[in-house]
Amino acid sequence: MIKIPVGILGATGMVGQQYITLLNDHPWFEVRYVAASPRSAGKKYEQAVAGRWHHVKTFSRNVGAIMVQDANDVGCAAVAFKRGDCSFVFSALEMGKDETRSLEEAYAAAGIPVISNASAHRWTSDVPVLIPEINPHHTDIIPAQQKARGWSRGFIAVKPNCSIQSYMAPVHALALAGFPSKRLIVTTMQAVSGAGYPGVPSLDMIDNIVPYIGGEEEKSEKEPLKIFGSIDNGIFKNAALPNISAHCNRVSVTDGHTACVCLEFGEKKPASMDEIKKIWGAFKGLPQEADFPMAPKQPIIYRDEDNRPQPRKDRDADKAMAVVIGRLRPCNVFDIRFTALSHNTVRGAAGGGILNAELLRHRGYLS
Ligand code: NAP
Repeated sequence: MIKIPVGILGATGMVGQQYITLLNDHPWFEVRYVAASPRSAGKKYEQAVAGRWHHVKTFSRNVGAIMVQDANDVGCAAVAFKRGDCSFVFSALEMGKDETRSLEEAYAAAGIPVISNASAHRWTSDVPVLIPEINPHHTDIIPAQQKARGWSRGFIAVKPNCSIQSYMAPVHALALAGFPSKRLIVTTMQAVSGAGYPGVPSLDMIDNIVPYIGGEEEKSEKEPLKIFGSIDNGIFKNAALPNISAHCNRVSVTDGHTACVCLEFGEKKPASMDEIKKIWGAFKGLPQEADFPMAPKQPIIYRDEDNRPQPRKDRDADKAMAVVIGRLRPCNVFDIRFTALSHNTVRGAAGGGILNAELLRHRGYLS
């Protein structure tokens, strides 16, 4: 199979590097274009990441030799697109929201689809926020987005915040089985890699917990409603429920965001904890049915041990794309409570972005 050539904007950062490692042997996509800030532009990729490569696995010789371009130079990407080196881009940029928003729009206007990790477009009314196991049908908005903006081939699709990944699939699986949630209280313990590199100063993190991550609680409370929402006349209409109250904390863990969730169902409640575990164990979405390369075989893994999930032991489950849950028990205030974990730079970032690209290719939006 001829692989689709892809570009990575922000290729030198924490998430960009994760894209490079995950796409190393990807059967459908091949990295042929990399871009970052003007600080890295003009260097070979291997020089640009020298001394700040975060992974054990290294990049291929081909990728190491690619010249890093300035991500702000859309014209350069358009030339690469015409040359056949960049059919679409993954955006892993960390810059101002307004700058990111207009830059991603400029790529789409130049005919280059953008699959983004940034939060800039998550609230744009015609941009889908995708978790392929939950709302693959939200890609149906793309023709309307292209028409409204006069884009012929380009479009923007994004993935949600990394901290909500671990509990969205379990909540969705229960709703599908007839038990939608009414209210959720979630407390997250989020890894340091979630703040990029160099991220939070070490003196703030060692022997410490920081009980504030700017903007994270608002994202955790709002984004699920768009993901559970519907398309109405070319824009998204949010779901009304569940009401979510979030506490987001930065903890001294390298990778893996953990969430402690208390959940209240609507009128209908599952009969037992075993019924819930069965629903989670049986849950599968389009990525599993269509066997996407990045898809975990079982998106929700339940562990019966009292002391799981743990970041170090569970974050890499099934290519680091599965959500691992444990400690399901009745709640004295709501109906149930449980602990959920997902890998923030894989499922919550680059792996999630690649799964989105696989979905978009499957639906015929990427060629
Ligand atoms: P990061 O490690 O700080 O990397 C940022 C990247 O953006 C680098 O490649 C950097 O290039 C580039 N960049 C910075 N300023 C730029 C500019 N003015 N023009 C062009 N490029 C610029 O950040 P990250 O953690 O990878 O996060 C990337 C994006 O993913 C962010 O939007 C973040 O919110 C989102 N995200 C992150 C995670 C996570 O777990 N880390 C999870 C989900 C979503 P240089 O190396 O040349 O400076």
